[in-house]
Amino acid sequence: MSVTKHRQRILKVLQEWFKDHEQGPTLEELCQLLEMHPRQKATVQRWLQTMRGIDVEWDAHAHRSLRLLTLEPQEIEVQLPVTETLRYLATGLAEWEKRSPELRSQIPEALRMGMSYMYLTALLRGEKAPGDIPELFKNAEETSLLDWLPGAEEIKYLPPDVTLIEGGLISDFTEGWQVEGKGVTEQVQESVMQDVLKHCRTLQLEEAYRAFRQAIVLKPTLPYEEFRRMLTAPLFHPLRNYLRQAYMELKKFAEYDVYYPCPRCRYPQRQRSDGSYGCRNVFCQTLCTRANPSLLPLPPIPKSEAHEWMVVTPGMHKYVTLPGLWEVSLYESLTRLGIRVTLYPQIDEYDLLVELPGNVRWMIDVKDWAYLRLDRLKQVHFCRDADETFIVFPDARKEHLRIEVVRDEYEAELGGVRLQLISEILERAEAIVGGKTHA
Ligand SMILES: [Zn+2]
Repeated sequence: MSVTKHRQRILKVLQEWFKDHEQGPTLEELCQLLEMHPRQKATVQRWLQTMRGIDVEWDAHAHRSLRLLTLEPQEIEVQLPVTETLRYLATGLAEWEKRSPELRSQIPEALRMGMSYMYLTALLRGEKAPGDIPELFKNAEETSLLDWLPGAEEIKYLPPDVTLIEGGLISDFTEGWQVEGKGVTEQVQESVMQDVLKHCRTLQLEEAYRAFRQAIVLKPTLPYEEFRRMLTAPLFHPLRNYLRQAYMELKKFAEYDVYYPCPRCRYPQRQRSDGSYGCRNVFCQTLCTRANPSLLPLPPIPKSEAHEWMVVTPGMHKYVTLPGLWEVSLYESLTRLGIRVTLYPQIDEYDLLVELPGNVRWMIDVKDWAYLRLDRLKQVHFCRDADETFIVFPDARKEHLRIEVVRDEYEAELGGVRLQLISEILERAEAIVGGKTHA
């Protein structure tokens, strides 16, 4: 048989394989698919070598990394635009939301791009063309994405009820799909945290780093007096300039008659166009609307007292305060079990170092994500100084992230890093602590 024949057969069986497998076959499995004896592995491997870089690729030493480089034309047409479409729509809606009301009649460029991608996808699939911009907004708020975005079913693990706008604000899902590098102001504000991290690593300021980060998480709104005390405290001394960048005056944050701190994250709620208030974090909103005895309304701050208050910048709130709430609550739950826990160990290599009886050490990174993405998961590396490295997600995200369903598939790619829910981590910890006490 000629090399071309082999090539065609291999391509054919691989295309079949990838219809229902996410990862590549092993060499033995490929032999089977080609109806060859496992003894002929070396021959198959030789054929693969001739196709490497052209039709197929794999990573040396990585299990099941064999993949096809050539996609079927149909897949290229349909799959690429829908994720692109979604990125544009998400970015466009996020930009639109940040605009002041009088500028909202101008449609952001990204939203226009998203619309033309939608047309293109519908055209290629021979479907009805989507409606105009007003209809897009209506759909974004009222209709599940699956029901109106052409090709949406091609997006893996799309939650069935997800919408792009929730309660008049862009949803967490939309935030997750924004093109990175677009929320320029917020990214710049968040970069203060990166600077603090670098500074603290260089000077080995572990305690100051922890104190700084905890302040941003637990005190996103604080009286000016307290802010001044922080500025003069010896612990914060090396980070004074960063504190000044991380906080801003409340009256510069927004001009309201009354400021209502969010009962969950304590950051001033945004005023919506109908005059009502809500935290820009959808999860805060959900918790606050449910009757939740632990979330009592905080005292409002009248305009006349605004000058006495400081708040963290919106970027710090979004990227540091909100995710930090989960880190701190996990820290508190584990500490209550009598376990030794260190927040932001080794100047923030991870979020928590958990030291359990029997000299068991866990490194934990907490992620408050609305959407799982393998490339972002891969950024958390397995810690060699610990027995386990976990990426941990709030249980509130359980249904959307479908951790239990996708766990095996993702973990296979993460080099020993494991995915857990907060409740699962607490159960594991309890079992270890309990086992030790009864022993
Ligand atoms: Zn909030």
